[in-house]
Amino acid sequence: MRESKTAVVVGAGLVGSLWTVFLARRGYQVKVFERRPDMRSSGYKGGRSINLAMSERGWRAIEKAGIRDQIEKVAIPMPGRMIHNISGQNAFQPYGKENEAIYSVSRGGLNLELLRIAGSYPNVEFYFEHQCLGADTGKPEITFLDHTTGQTKTTEAPLIFATDGAHSAVRYSLQRTDRFNYRQFYLDHGYKELTIPPAADGKHRINPEALHIWPRGNFMMIALPNADGSFTATLFLPFEGDISFRQIRNDEDVVAFFQRYFPDTVELMPDLVQDFNRNPTSSLITVNCDPWQWQGRILLLGDSAHAIVPFYGQGMNAGFEDCTILDNMLDEMGENWSEVIPAFSRAHSRNGHAIAELAQRNFIEMRDLVADPKFLLRKKITAWLHEKYPSDFMPVYSMVTFSNTPYHRALQEDDAQNRLFDSILAIPDVESEWNSEAVDNVFKNWLKTR
Ligand SMILES: Cc1cc2nc3c(=O)[nH]c(=O)nc-3n(C[C@H](O)[C@H](O)[C@H](O)COP(=O)(O)OP(=O)(O)OC[C@H]3O[C@@H](n4cnc5c(N)ncnc54)[C@H](O)[C@@H]3O)c2cc1C
Repeated sequence: MRESKTAVVVGAGLVGSLWTVFLARRGYQVKVFERRPDMRSSGYKGGRSINLAMSERGWRAIEKAGIRDQIEKVAIPMPGRMIHNISGQNAFQPYGKENEAIYSVSRGGLNLELLRIAGSYPNVEFYFEHQCLGADTGKPEITFLDHTTGQTKTTEAPLIFATDGAHSAVRYSLQRTDRFNYRQFYLDHGYKELTIPPAADGKHRINPEALHIWPRGNFMMIALPNADGSFTATLFLPFEGDISFRQIRNDEDVVAFFQRYFPDTVELMPDLVQDFNRNPTSSLITVNCDPWQWQGRILLLGDSAHAIVPFYGQGMNAGFEDCTILDNMLDEMGENWSEVIPAFSRAHSRNGHAIAELAQRNFIEMRDLVADPKFLLRKKITAWLHEKYPSDFMPVYSMVTFSNTPYHRALQEDDAQNRLFDSILAIPDVESEWNSEAVDNVFKNWLKTR
């Protein structure tokens, strides 16, 4: 029986290494193939954001994997967002209720920890510098290019978990099969990472207990704290257009751009020009596909199934939730993969589509609305309604971030609450009557029609 408990995991990023831990705990012989060198010996060479916001769904999976304590020690709580207006004024907006926070965690640190834990199981074998070239959909085989030898190898693989990210090679194989739906699109905006180094005393230069946002209409910058006293800032800007990456052509343009739009950050970033020139301008892709599986023996998890834009801070959290849900289904249905894999795909793919849509919507909120008086009024009324009717009304942000409510339900709720606020914000003088009986009545009527 044990001999038949074998699995191949393609990609040892965040989701692949976590899912390997889950499989190892179930006693599977797991072969993990990863394109990059082993970061346990070579160190982490992340090209992408070096910290990530972790929230409830991520923590739940981390806890199930038994490593919450290690990760929590280096996670920095961010109970709210700090809005930096162009005039230099700052405003703090809590994310949820007291004691609710999202956490800044190191991408490299988390991946390394997960790899170490996965590697501590004797039933896990890693193959680094092995790039998957595709999975055979006709027979249970998978092909890799071994970068250490330049040889191509084909391996038997009756059960494959593809966690090889947004440009998944395994998914490309599935895209050639009948009735596999696939859509990808790029945002007009790209992103570039910059660093706010620690102050001379080693401390953070701005409040570390917040996710900082500089909303500027069609573009924005954000910054998340790191445990070493620095912040990783990310500039999101259109690739083309009047205000765009294309218009920033030389060192003088970099300085002029920041002095004009982010004046309070210029002195926080002494290496701004070097960082700007050295760091790549990266694109942002959304991937929707369905089903996430092939014949009950190949399953896409994480970004390979549902890459999303980062504006809800949910990409990794959603990938980790895939692991929790799949593991729970195995508990309920037994390890009968030919049934569990299609059932997982059927039940859960709509949640991937929903968080992709919510993440797009949150981009507008972050870059445009957080400084808009109507939006702030809506936030105030939302908090009031949540306080008054805690079991009937939960803010969508809390549902996504601080609960495990399926994303497709959160999306339905977002649509419903948008309708509610269209009516509330149309009440005459609502700015001064925001907690009035009139608002209460609109809310009660909305509850009946929901
Ligand atoms: C700017 C930015 C900010 C983000 N912020 C957040 C945030 O705050 N919170 C959050 O939850 N999410 C965030 N995300 C999303 C998050 O980074 C991803 O959702 C997460 O990394 C997905 O994990 P994954 O393991 O599925 O894919 P990846 O992290 O992409 O890992 C894929 C792994 O597969 C390997 N691989 C790729 N191709 C092959 C191949 N052919 N063969 C073998 N191996 C291969 C790669 O080397 C890599 O190790 C952000 C993303 C971006 C771009």
